[in-house]
Amino acid sequence: MPEKRVFCLEKDLLSSQDLLEGIIESATDAIVAINEEHRIILYNLAAENIFGYRVEEALGQDLALLLPPSVARKHRQYVEEFLKTGHSPVLGRIMEGKARRKNGEIFPVQISRSATRINGHWVFTAIVRDISTQKEMEKRLLQSEKLAAVGMAVSRIVHEIKNPLIAIGGLVLSLLKKEEDPEKKKKLELIFREVQRLEKLLSDISDFAKPLKLDLKKTDIVSLCQEALEVYRPRLEEAGIEVKFLAPSQKIELPIDESRFKEVLFNLLQNALEAMSDGGGTLELEIRPEEEKVLIFVRDTGPGIPEEALKQLFTPFFTTKKRGTGLGLSISLKIIEAHGGRIYARNHEKGAEFIIELPYQTEDP
Ligand code: ADP
Repeated sequence: MPEKRVFCLEKDLLSSQDLLEGIIESATDAIVAINEEHRIILYNLAAENIFGYRVEEALGQDLALLLPPSVARKHRQYVEEFLKTGHSPVLGRIMEGKARRKNGEIFPVQISRSATRINGHWVFTAIVRDISTQKEMEKRLLQSEKLAAVGMAVSRIVHEIKNPLIAIGGLVLSLLKKEEDPEKKKKLELIFREVQRLEKLLSDISDFAKPLKLDLKKTDIVSLCQEALEVYRPRLEEAGIEVKFLAPSQKIELPIDESRFKEVLFNLLQNALEAMSDGGGTLELEIRPEEEKVLIFVRDTGPGIPEEALKQLFTPFFTTKKRGTGLGLSISLKIIEAHGGRIYARNHEKGAEFIIELPYQTEDP
């Protein structure tokens, strides 16, 4: 065992019970000590916070209480080996491992262990730091780096496909104009529609993969919503859908990227149109100013959203439509969050309702 290397200017300080208790009690890392039988004999306040067991629940229990079963087995072997040989590979080193909370959650920890001989018996002490937040942040960072790499790859692929696709679309269109035979015309029209669909899919994908840069300008949200609705009105009315616009008469100015915000409204209006395409209904676009934010509601009287789908609506590529891309709402979420706002969906008594919340002040992302 290494010789003792603790020095103190005040002679009696080291043997002072108060000092030791103070250190153990105020430590922000868990301090847990076990005896030769692997039972917990010391357990501080931070251990209570980290593991969730109160000191009365932990003292006297096997250390297995705080460890996942496989780790507990290994730990017991280390202790037995040390008692036989006086050596252990885990003593005196800072290591990362797994521990278990009272609620069953297994979480990452950083541990440093030591062994001390007291009154002829060994006491093994571990200082345990909960590193779950740190690990989560590392994971997110890695995830966003990976996403950035995927984004770049996607942009390249989209670029490679887009140009030939545009050429194919142009050629088909020129053939279509000249074609007299109705049978062949029908086939060319079909090709053209599919090409258009792929072009839209590619532009959605590249939109999704690109980092979002907003061009924020003070914009009247009331007239912006009205303009977007007017673009959609003919399509809605043709499908037998009644259109209602409920908005205050005065201007409401917010820092907005006009074209990106319109894109969100178009996505919501298109979804509402598709939801009511079978039997008509009512579309309501409402703007409601509140104290700190403006709420924009897009309501339809379609079939509504099934409970399981509600959780996934904004996940990229989630679609229940035969020809959907599942990107509209995830792009909308990205745009609204970049404005410092929120977007979410719920069902109302007759259909689906999408709500956008926009703050009056947007911090530049
Ligand atoms: P897409 O329209 O290509 O499927 P979106 O991201 O716009 O992609 O929508 C994802 C899914 O959300 C849709 O497939 C649909 O299941 C659901 N959804 C969106 N809007 C509505 C709505 N107004 N009513 C019912 N379901 C909706």
